Amino acid sequence: MKTCLICSKDIANASSLEFILSFKRFNESAACRECFSQFTLLEGKKICTTCSKITASIECSDCKSWNDGLINQSMFQYNAMMRAFFKSYKFQGDYALRLVFRERFVNFIKNSIKENEQIVPIPIDEDTMKARGFNQVTGLIEGLDFLNVLSNQRTENSKHQFQRNREERLAHVNTFKAIDNHAIDGQNVLLVDDIYTTGTTIRQAADVLKKQGVRTVRSITLCR
Ligand SMILES: [Zn+2]
Ligand SMILES: [Zn+2]
Repeated sequence: MKTCLICSKDIANASSLEFILSFKRFNESAACRECFSQFTLLEGKKICTTCSKITASIECSDCKSWNDGLINQSMFQYNAMMRAFFKSYKFQGDYALRLVFRERFVNFIKNSIKENEQIVPIPIDEDTMKARGFNQVTGLIEGLDFLNVLSNQRTENSKHQFQRNREERLAHVNTFKAIDNHAIDGQNVLLVDDIYTTGTTIRQAADVLKKQGVRTVRSITLCR
């Protein structure tokens, strides 16, 4: 019997036809309807055309101040339910939770990716990898082909980015490094990350890739 990975209730107790059909489409779904309905899909919402943030205007204030045209697509809003999800998935290290989104997120990427694009996931640093045991981003896109061409050299010194303002964050040392220059030279890259918050992480990774000869960079994240 299948149980919800979030609330542990029996998924098979679902009664509505719509629910049963939706689970046929996503046969790997691992969350019950009640839990899943607390995540907010961005599709159909008024969002920034550049970064997918929920906003009343065509372009949000974040993108206006970045003013670099970097396109980011996201699937869900980073709301309270999503915050709780990532607390369990990342910080309590429950790898099984990737299954709540994996199939949907993989389909979202497949629907968006262009033929000439290569997927590059945002890497985590070695200390985090040792503590957590997995990269939460590659867990979410398991089954897709991607290039491991970045490493994350983050150290204790650089761990408190959120305490810096935007200029400090950008000026601050970029912790990403390219580890396979030949694989990405002349390519179009689709960066994939779990959460787009300030946009700094994506831009730091994009910066490194462009210096290695990558032609274009855009990004997809699970949440915005
Ligand atoms: Zn549930
Ligand atoms: Zn925006």
